[in-house]
Amino acid sequence: MLAAVPRESFPGERRVALVPKDVAALTKAGLQMVIESGAGVSALHEDGEYEAQGARVEMDRKRLFAGADIVLTVRGPGAHREFPEADLKALKSGAAMVGFLDPLDEPAIMKALAERGLTLFSMELMPRITRAQSMDALSSMATISGYKAVLMAAYAAPRMFPMLMTAAGTITAARVFVLGAGVAGLQAIATARRLGGVVEGYDVRPAVKEQVESLGARFVVLDVKTDEAETAGGYAKAQSEEFYRRQQQLLGERLRGMDVIITTALVPGKKAPVLITAEMVAGLRPGTVIVDLAAERGGNCALTKPGETVDHHGVVILGPLNLPSELPAHASQLYSKNVTAFLSHVVKDGRLRLDEGEEIVNGTLVTRAARSCTRWLCRLWRGSRRKPGPGATAGLCGVACNAPSCNRSQLACETRSLRRVGRRFGAADRRQRLSPLGACDGNVHCFTDGVCAGSFCGL
Ligand code: NAD
Repeated sequence: MLAAVPRESFPGERRVALVPKDVAALTKAGLQMVIESGAGVSALHEDGEYEAQGARVEMDRKRLFAGADIVLTVRGPGAHREFPEADLKALKSGAAMVGFLDPLDEPAIMKALAERGLTLFSMELMPRITRAQSMDALSSMATISGYKAVLMAAYAAPRMFPMLMTAAGTITAARVFVLGAGVAGLQAIATARRLGGVVEGYDVRPAVKEQVESLGARFVVLDVKTDEAETAGGYAKAQSEEFYRRQQQLLGERLRGMDVIITTALVPGKKAPVLITAEMVAGLRPGTVIVDLAAERGGNCALTKPGETVDHHGVVILGPLNLPSELPAHASQLYSKNVTAFLSHVVKDGRLRLDEGEEIVNGTLVTRAARSCTRWLCRLWRGSRRKPGPGATAGLCGVACNAPSCNRSQLACETRSLRRVGRRFGAADRRQRLSPLGACDGNVHCFTDGVCAGSFCGL
C-alpha cells in the first residue's frame, strides 16, 4: 500500500504530517512512503532527508494523490474547508485519509466524502484512553498552543514576568490567570511559572485542582456548583446559562488586577463558553493582555476577534488561530509521531485492518469506503440524546433510536443528533451556524427552521 504525504494546502499552514525519522516505522508496517517535494520544508525537513529514510519524493501532486492508498495530512477536508477539489478528484475511490477533519462542524463535507467512497480517520476524535496516548494529536497540539500563548502574552505585555530586585528598585512579578486547565491550560501555567509569573488557574472541573497546584500555581475555587461539570471521558460538560452568568460575575472580581489572562475553556462539539464579557474587560486595568486560545471556536472573551488583535481601552485581546503552525518543527514532530502510532495500529502487513468494534478505530473512523454508516456521530452525541422510549430500535449504527421515521442508518441518527444540538444553541447562533446549508433537501443538511420537509425532520 502506498501512503502519501502532500504539502499542506491550508493558507499559512507550516506543519507536515510526517517527519523523516518516522518513515522507517511506517515502512516496517508494510507501507511504501511517498512524499510530495517540498512538503517538509516549512517544518525544516528537506526532500533528501525523506529519501535517506527510504521514502520516494514525488514532484507531481496529481500523481501523488492518484497513486495513494492512504493520504496523511495535517488539515484534511473539514478542518480545511477549501481543500483542493483537484486533490480529492485525483484520489482513487476507496482511498483513506488521516488528519484533522473537524467532522462535527462540517457534517455536510463528511457526507459528501463518504459518498465518494473515501475512508476518513479524524485525529481529533482519538479516544482519550491510555492505549491511545501516543496517538493523541489534540494533546500534542494543545501543549504547543499553551506554551506559545504565554510567549505571545509576554511579548504583548507592557510589563515583565519575573520579580526583579535591582539597584533601581523592585519590579513585581506579573500576575497571570489561566482559565481552563486542560492540556493547553496546564502548559500555559507551567510556561508562565517558568517565566517567573505568579499564576492562578481555574477550571470548571474540580478534578484538576491537584494538577494546577503541582505546577506551582494557585487553584481558584468559585462559589458556583461544579459537581456535574465533567463527562465520563474527562471533558467539561456544557452548563446552564445561569451557571455561566454566575461564573462571569465571580470571575469579574478575580480577574481585576491581573496582568495576563490566558483563556483555554472548551466544551467538545460546542461553541466555546463566554467567560469574559465586555463589561468584565472594561473592569481590567489598561495594559492587561488576554490571549484567547478558544478564538477558533468563537472565543472565551466576548470581544475576541479570531485571528486579530483588539485594543479595548488599553486592554489587548489576542485571538490567535492555528498556533501549532507557528512552531512547525516541534508541532510536526509530535503530530508525525501521533499519526505513525495510529497507522502502526491500523495497518498490518501493509494493509488496513479495520475492526470497527475496537475503540481506537471506532472512535476515529468517520466514513468508510462503500458504506453510508459509521458509528462515530451517534457515539459522540450520545450525551445530548434523549433516552430511547418504548418502541426504540437499534439501527445500523447500533444505537437504540426512536426517531419518527428513522431509516435505521447512521444518517438518520446524525440528523436527529445535530438537530438537537442545533436546538441547544440560541436562534441567532443556529442561523449563523446553519444558514450556509440552505433549504432542506431531505437529508443531513436539513436544518432550516420550520420549513423542513425531510423525512427525518423532528422539529
Ligand atoms: P478541552 O480543550 O476540551 O477544554 C479545555 C479546558 O476547558 C478543560 O479543562 C475544561 O474543563 C475547561 N472548561 C470548559 N468549560 C469551562 C468553563 N466554563 N470554565 C472553566 N473551564 C472550562 O480539554 P482538553 O485539554 O483537550 O482535555 C480535557 C481533559 O481530558 C484533560 O484535562 C484530561 O483530564 C483529559 N485527557 C486525558 C487524556 C488521556 O487519558 N489520554 C489525554 C488528554 C486529556
